[in-house]
Amino acid sequence: MRLHLRLLAVLVVIGISIFAASLIGVAGLREVRQVNDSAIARRATLIAETLAARLLATAPELEQELIDVVSRRTGVELVVFDRQGRSIRDAALEVPSVDQLALFRRQRDGYGDTRLGRARFHVTPMGPPPADRFLIAFVLAPESSESSAALFSALLGVFLFLSAGAAVLMLAVGRDAGRDIAFVQARIQAMARVRSEPTGEPIPMRSIDEVGHLTQAFNELVARFALAQHAYSDDLSRAQAADRERSAFLAAVSHELRTPLNAILGFADVLLSGVDGPLTPDDFDNVTQVRGSGRHLLGLINDILELSALESGQLKIQLEPVSLNDIAAAVVREGAILAADRPVEVTLVADEQVTVLADPRRLRQIVTNLVSNAVKFTERGEIAVIVRSNTSSGTLTVRDTGPGIPPEESVRIFQEFRQTLSERQRRRGTGLGLAITRRLVAMHNGRLDLESEVGMGSAFTVSLPVVRK
Ligand code: ADP
Repeated sequence: MRLHLRLLAVLVVIGISIFAASLIGVAGLREVRQVNDSAIARRATLIAETLAARLLATAPELEQELIDVVSRRTGVELVVFDRQGRSIRDAALEVPSVDQLALFRRQRDGYGDTRLGRARFHVTPMGPPPADRFLIAFVLAPESSESSAALFSALLGVFLFLSAGAAVLMLAVGRDAGRDIAFVQARIQAMARVRSEPTGEPIPMRSIDEVGHLTQAFNELVARFALAQHAYSDDLSRAQAADRERSAFLAAVSHELRTPLNAILGFADVLLSGVDGPLTPDDFDNVTQVRGSGRHLLGLINDILELSALESGQLKIQLEPVSLNDIAAAVVREGAILAADRPVEVTLVADEQVTVLADPRRLRQIVTNLVSNAVKFTERGEIAVIVRSNTSSGTLTVRDTGPGIPPEESVRIFQEFRQTLSERQRRRGTGLGLAITRRLVAMHNGRLDLESEVGMGSAFTVSLPVVRK
């Protein structure tokens, strides 16, 4: 479409150039004719009058000779005739008839036909009026004058020049539009494909039309992109360095804290077991407190390390078909032991065998987190672990009869270090369990949903890709 428009534009330019050249040609030709005409008329007048004057001063027997000489030299046909039109002397291939000469005499100036062709004539009386002799001079009018031929060739030149200009213009404007576009496109594709493509290198501008503008705009984009890329890679390398530092720091913290902490817990267990002798009730309380705080601290350290590994992508999972029923049964057993000190029943509800695609260790961690939260927050009633499946996923719901979670807190509790207000006031837990659980579920391409009503209980549901056998 665009190419057609261009072609049309060029054709219009050529058309206008032809029209302009023709106009100039017609005007020029007319001008040339007029100039020629007046020049010939002047020549005829000049020769006739000069010769007439000289003839008057020449002896009659020399008149013919003078006429011949002038005719030969000027190429002009000359006739001397009387009042009736009868020829007296001449230097002409053919003398016009008596009537013609009489007519020419009356006209004085004009065009007449001679044997050599159409000629401009001028009649001049020889002597003062009433003259009895007249001299007529015929100057041949050129069929096509040299100047008009020159004009024609000049016009042809102008026309050719304009046409060539239009063609060059078409080439400059429309040349290889397709190839230029393909060229720009190839560069963009190369940039998208090859990450190491030197994005800052501009594409050469090959035309001044839309493609040229496009190229220019693209080059600006490339320049900005290159700047952004540099900034990004700088940021990335800084972030990577920071990440490496963080990992190293966490590894060090893990070692430095966990080793003495495990020792403390070990000693506390030994003391509480009474192996080293009985403890006074006060000491027993104190050591129990130490052990509780130590366990809390160890849990916190483990959670932070785990979250850090999840965030930095160091934690990898290995997906395989896993029985959701087996995992649920094992965790329900543990939950029942944890809840043994309360009137809470932990049950498994599974009407079908459900296999999901998961990392068995991490799936167990997910379910354990949910069940231990339920046990932690449920004072009495029931904790049900329900295993189900639908067309695309296997689901495991942990439903409790605990305090429930207010709707305004149901999103926040999945964030790091976030707890419900009541839980914060009690200063229990770390607020990391659900954040870790949520990330683990996401790594399995699954989802974690919460349904809860304050005072009634909560239900956390994990959905994972089901494996059909
Ligand atoms: P933590 O249990 O260490 O506080 P979590 O991330 O596991 O951290 O839980 C965040 C918060 O979500 C809890 O502090 C609690 O307020 C709320 N929560 C989690 N599970 C339940 C539940 N089953 N019933 C009521 N509240 C819950």
